[in-house]
Amino acid sequence: MKLAVIGCSQLVTLAGPVHARTGLEMRDLGVIDDGAMIIAEGRIERTGPRREIEPLIGDATVIDAGKRVVMPGFVDAHTHPVFAGNRANEFEQRISGTTYAEIAAAGGGIRSTVRQTRAADETALLEAANRYSTWFLRNGTTTIEAKSGYGLTPEDEYKLLRVIGRIGPLRSVATFLGAHEIPDEYRSRRVDYIRLVTNEMLPHVAANHLAEFCDIFCEPAVFSIDESRGILRAARKLGLELRLHADQLSNSGAAELASELGAATADHLEHTETSGIAALKAAGVQPVLLPGSVYALGSKRYPNARAMINAGLAVVLATDFNPGSSPTPSMPTILSLACTQMKMTPAEALTAATINAAHSLRRGPSLGSLEPGKLADFVIHDRGDYREIPYFFGTEPAKTVYIEGRLAFER
Ligand SMILES: [Zn+2]
Repeated sequence: MKLAVIGCSQLVTLAGPVHARTGLEMRDLGVIDDGAMIIAEGRIERTGPRREIEPLIGDATVIDAGKRVVMPGFVDAHTHPVFAGNRANEFEQRISGTTYAEIAAAGGGIRSTVRQTRAADETALLEAANRYSTWFLRNGTTTIEAKSGYGLTPEDEYKLLRVIGRIGPLRSVATFLGAHEIPDEYRSRRVDYIRLVTNEMLPHVAANHLAEFCDIFCEPAVFSIDESRGILRAARKLGLELRLHADQLSNSGAAELASELGAATADHLEHTETSGIAALKAAGVQPVLLPGSVYALGSKRYPNARAMINAGLAVVLATDFNPGSSPTPSMPTILSLACTQMKMTPAEALTAATINAAHSLRRGPSLGSLEPGKLADFVIHDRGDYREIPYFFGTEPAKTVYIEGRLAFER
């Protein structure tokens, strides 16, 4: 099956070097004005100006973008999409002045979602996840990284990872987050829970290929630096790559730990200082910035994206979609926050949400840009210029979404 995409006001290819983009590379989107693209068997065969591509169309099915922006699907490299219920009640409590930490201490927060998620069966969880999956598609996202972490027993964690494996047509990459929180029944014996994660869950997850990455909530009030190091080392020994929730609520040295362990990413980094940034740079760890959670928690402390870009880090942007601190699946909203609150340029933000995100998931060679040989995950946005995507905030710009050349969403 052959497709020809024509009529792109801008074909935003993000073509460039085969590595996560840094510095000025983040501003080069490889835009082809009046661009066109040929797709065969779900992969991109060729891109170029319309006059070069048109003679090659032959018997291909033609998709006319109607003078709109065509770009790669967003790659959302940090989400928690499998959970039961939601926490709209806590949203209201926080508005009335109760803090996230106080809610958590009273048994709310992650632990309340854990109780509801344990009670839900796999079918109900998959139904909910597929509903959210449609929300991602509507916003132009074609790949998500998806974490477990609301089960916190071996069976419940495996249940979540199986659901992640069945989400569709949205593409998902699974991360094991058994160390998301100490569950209620282990409050007085945390060492036993850490042993359970390390000695039972991790080996099972690795042996059954239930996840490619292992993550942890590294924070003094949740898992300490030493506890995190132990769990992550065990994960790495089993062949899993590492991601960390790092320096979200305090500067605890989690960025340095991510560097020491050679993690793929360190995520959040709201409190990371110059030394942490330097450590990430030295170790080639990608920062995953999550401005949606800063916004939704009513905080003003955004991560210092400019310092990270200036230091040469290959910045990634993601939604952190979850029922507590960041209930948005909208990458366009994240781009808007990145531009207005973190002073990233629209081009830097787009790079962070596509090709850099793909590299952080080790999918750089197949996803994140529109280049010959790559999977044809692309979106026609109802916009004439890519800068209009973060500019018209609070809208859903995606008009048509394709995954491997197949229609996945149409407005
Ligand atoms: Zn998260």
